[in-house]
Amino acid sequence: MKHIQKLCLLFFVLPFLAIAQNENVDVNVMNKIRHEGLENSKVMDIAFHLTDANGPRLTNSPGYFKAANYAKDQLASWGLKNSMLDPWGDFGKGWELEKSYVAMTAPWYKSLEAYPKAWTAGTNGPKHAEVILIAAKDSAGLDAYRGKLKGKIIITDRDEKYKLSFEPDAHRLTDAELDSMSNETIKPVDTAAMRKRREQFMNQNRSQQSMLKTLKEMAEKEGALAMFTSSPRNHDGTIFVQQAGPYKLTDPENFLDIALQYEDYMTIVRLLRNNMPVSFDVEVATKFFTKDIKGYNVIAEIPGTDPKLKDEIVMLGGHLDSWQGGTGATDNAAGSMVMMEAVRILKAIGIQPRRTIRIALWSGEEQGLLGSRGYVKKTFADPSDMKLLPAHDKFSAYFNVDNGTGKIRGVYLQGNEAVKNIFAQWLVPFNDLGAKTLTISNTGGTDHLSFDAVGLPGFQFIQDPLEYDTRNHHSNMDVSEHLQEDDLKQAATIVAAFVYDAAMRDEKLPRKELPAARKN
Ligand SMILES: [Zn+2]
Repeated sequence: MKHIQKLCLLFFVLPFLAIAQNENVDVNVMNKIRHEGLENSKVMDIAFHLTDANGPRLTNSPGYFKAANYAKDQLASWGLKNSMLDPWGDFGKGWELEKSYVAMTAPWYKSLEAYPKAWTAGTNGPKHAEVILIAAKDSAGLDAYRGKLKGKIIITDRDEKYKLSFEPDAHRLTDAELDSMSNETIKPVDTAAMRKRREQFMNQNRSQQSMLKTLKEMAEKEGALAMFTSSPRNHDGTIFVQQAGPYKLTDPENFLDIALQYEDYMTIVRLLRNNMPVSFDVEVATKFFTKDIKGYNVIAEIPGTDPKLKDEIVMLGGHLDSWQGGTGATDNAAGSMVMMEAVRILKAIGIQPRRTIRIALWSGEEQGLLGSRGYVKKTFADPSDMKLLPAHDKFSAYFNVDNGTGKIRGVYLQGNEAVKNIFAQWLVPFNDLGAKTLTISNTGGTDHLSFDAVGLPGFQFIQDPLEYDTRNHHSNMDVSEHLQEDDLKQAATIVAAFVYDAAMRDEKLPRKELPAARKN
């Protein structure tokens, strides 16, 4: 009996010890990180500078550069080295909204919350205009409106109803949801099914998209003043607003497209359907910046100290650029402040990392991960030829935050099974803060993909979604009130620990197989 007990003990304890020895998590440093991150946090101070004090951070706008310079100087003041704005390639024109006044003047007065889309032209001074209702269902239907658009504001008839929601705006991941994430397995990607879904989606929207494109062309040619757009998603004061069109140096200014709340939009539509004339006072002034079309990321380092490992790199980052409707507080000042705070914590407790720790705050993410792709291409490898640069071999891992203000619940392993046990141990000191889930699955849509695309370990954390999809993401409500201080402190603490663990480990993090060159 005794003998059996002993065996059982060995059986249960040994594998655990083997893993624990394997990773050597420094409990003393973890406690210091935790104390600095949770008790002495500066994350809301960084938040203030990136949002309220700064304004929106559309790539290459003055707001972007103001934030980038603040970050560069702040990182340097905490003692990081080589803090700089690092060009990654050509982006295009900067754009800034200088004035926007949109008010209905007939049949009654109402000033509207309204957002010109990025890279649109302005109105050239204050204008008074009537609204014309376009009831066409496709491009052929537009013929009835030819020659009638000069000086008008265009609105298209829509029949989607606003649906009352009985779901809460904010959500934290439940244990059941987290369990199902950890139970996911690597599934072969069904590219045929994906293509079919994409085609179905494109076909559904094709006739409406091509009608809108033709309508915009007609509007510009005939000298219409502006166009109002909306969708049922834009309700209760929340307006989602992005760009009106292209922004390369050679692209013309886009036709003035103004996003409205669906409630206001449908009020105008119903008035016009009932033949009641609707007119507006509109004045929009926008400014384009063409002097320097290059895009810039913010980069800074905590140099490594181990003679053998200091040339190796551990990276952390998130995108600094935002849309212009709010101040991009959750998308992605949140990720930027978490990353800045993580390196501040590491400097504050005086760590001497073996590898070099490098923070990157990207630009052009919202236009297609442009800043991180440009950086990876010039530093590590071009995914289109997969010729590896020397730094590719010296790279350990990249950690990204870009899913809003919610606290960290775990990590997406991005199909890299070999890091699972490592991350499981790194998370142990933070299990009590709600971070314990590892899912083999991928998550898309942001800058870790630029690293993954050239076979470098790039990871995004699992975060509580809170109101990210319902209220904040790309909307005018992406402002500081929606930041959650305790969540951000927790996230910065865990990121600091992960970066430290990766910088101190004997080996670089294990990699997946190198991908084949991918012609664009
Ligand atoms: Zn984002």
